[in-house]
Amino acid sequence: MTNMRMMIGGELVEAADGKRREIINPANEEPFATVAEAGCEDVRRAVAAASRAFYEGPWRTVGPSQRADVLERIANLIVAHREELATLDCNTVGRPIREIEGDIQEAARIFKYCARATVALMGETMEMSNDAFGFTVREPRGVVGLIIPWNYPMPNAAIKLAPALAAGNTCVLKVAELAPCSMLRLAELIQFALEIPPGVINVLSGAGETVGGELVRSPDVDFISFTGGTETGKEVMRLAAQTLKPVILELGGKSPNIILDDADFEAAVDGAVTAMFMGHGQVCVAGSRLLVQESIYTRFVRAVTEATRAIRVGHPLDRNTEMGPLISKEQWERVSGYVERGRREGARLVVGGGRPKGDQFRRGYYFEPTLLDKVDNRMTVAQEEIFGPVLCVMPFSDLDEAIAIANETRYGLAGGIWTRDISKALQAARALRTGIVWVNSCLSTFIELPSGGCRQSGFGRELGLQGLQEYTNIKQISIKTSSAPMGWFGRHAPP
Ligand code: NAD
Repeated sequence: MTNMRMMIGGELVEAADGKRREIINPANEEPFATVAEAGCEDVRRAVAAASRAFYEGPWRTVGPSQRADVLERIANLIVAHREELATLDCNTVGRPIREIEGDIQEAARIFKYCARATVALMGETMEMSNDAFGFTVREPRGVVGLIIPWNYPMPNAAIKLAPALAAGNTCVLKVAELAPCSMLRLAELIQFALEIPPGVINVLSGAGETVGGELVRSPDVDFISFTGGTETGKEVMRLAAQTLKPVILELGGKSPNIILDDADFEAAVDGAVTAMFMGHGQVCVAGSRLLVQESIYTRFVRAVTEATRAIRVGHPLDRNTEMGPLISKEQWERVSGYVERGRREGARLVVGGGRPKGDQFRRGYYFEPTLLDKVDNRMTVAQEEIFGPVLCVMPFSDLDEAIAIANETRYGLAGGIWTRDISKALQAARALRTGIVWVNSCLSTFIELPSGGCRQSGFGRELGLQGLQEYTNIKQISIKTSSAPMGWFGRHAPP
């Protein structure tokens, strides 16, 4: 069994109280690893190490190009250890190895992008009065707390860690309880292979309320970047208010995927299935509400049903597998509960709905790719994030109705539209109340483009130059260029 420790102040450590947590392999329900389980004392140790590294260490003062070199080398380390990191994630998250290998490459690309993006760490000069010269500089925020979920462990970590480091911050990263292994291992590799000052990267594993909560409450943490569920995000914001700490929140979604009757039929079917079942639907931007124009509804749903039925569910380490198990028993029960609720509220179960048949699925948290038809947008399954492989399909008559249904949700993360009509595509792109819109595609993440939500999907941006700038404060500096006195006091004649 794999045993892992945490990274605090440049050292691999156990929790102060010696606690450990067992990590279960979702493919066979057996323990795969144990990891140190942080408590509040460990958070305080990590924050103190990060504070020392920020105020005393050279990290923030070495300049962007030296930090960029380190980021490049982290990217190379990830690539060099890709098999080991992929195996760790595959055995803890349960997503297919082919997907997870993509995650690892993606994480390396994010570090490389952020290395190059350090050129954007610049301020501005302004036209001022004759005797003053003014400019702005972008400074690191300080000690940043980074909190991530379990679904895509390596990219989730890289999306926060790479820009935070590029901008000169020191970091306390809290990984998810269910999938902590790859990042704990990467922290060890970085610390011992690269000359990075101790305390610049601290990684804690542990319970959300305890470790995450303490991190958000800490008066010595200057900024929180959080990714997770909407309800947790609200709690993070509430806790952060105690110290008026700025936060960015990347939260849940219930993304619409709109299919117009002039769309390329085959491409749209493929897009509908990919948008939902990639990552087992455990994806914040999953196209979980499929809106299909009435004129093609029956034919389209039949084609999507066939494609859904054809998805190969299997062991995540098997290269032929397209969908592995869900991550945990709780997640299995949650997804199953939503399917039941959907049926009770009047939806029709077309395909899937439970454990796949066959001896190989008797153990493991396997769940069939599932399609619910006759869904009304007011149903619970259409309004709440299931975060599992359950596609809810509903018809619409015209684009205006599709947009109205699409926007009838508390979320605002992503949306998709499939059409050959550029005017309709642009009309939808402007009208969807989301932070991301895909036209004739789905789930594509471009590292160069800022990504994030609005409404109850959160605020703040990740990736792109804006994603880097989130980890900076703007400071204005002005210099008086003449020696004339300020001249306010002593101007009036004495009484
Ligand atoms: P979660 O909210 O349960 O947990 C996310 C992280 O927050 C974990 O590390 C957890 O330990 C921690 N946490 C829990 N309670 C906390 C508290 N009180 N204070 C501080 N931290 C706390 O979410 P999850 O189940 O791990 O992940 C699934 C959710 O994440 C989904 O809603 C999904 O949409 C969302 N997500 C969003 C994005 C995005 O970019 N918008 C990306 C991936 C996942």
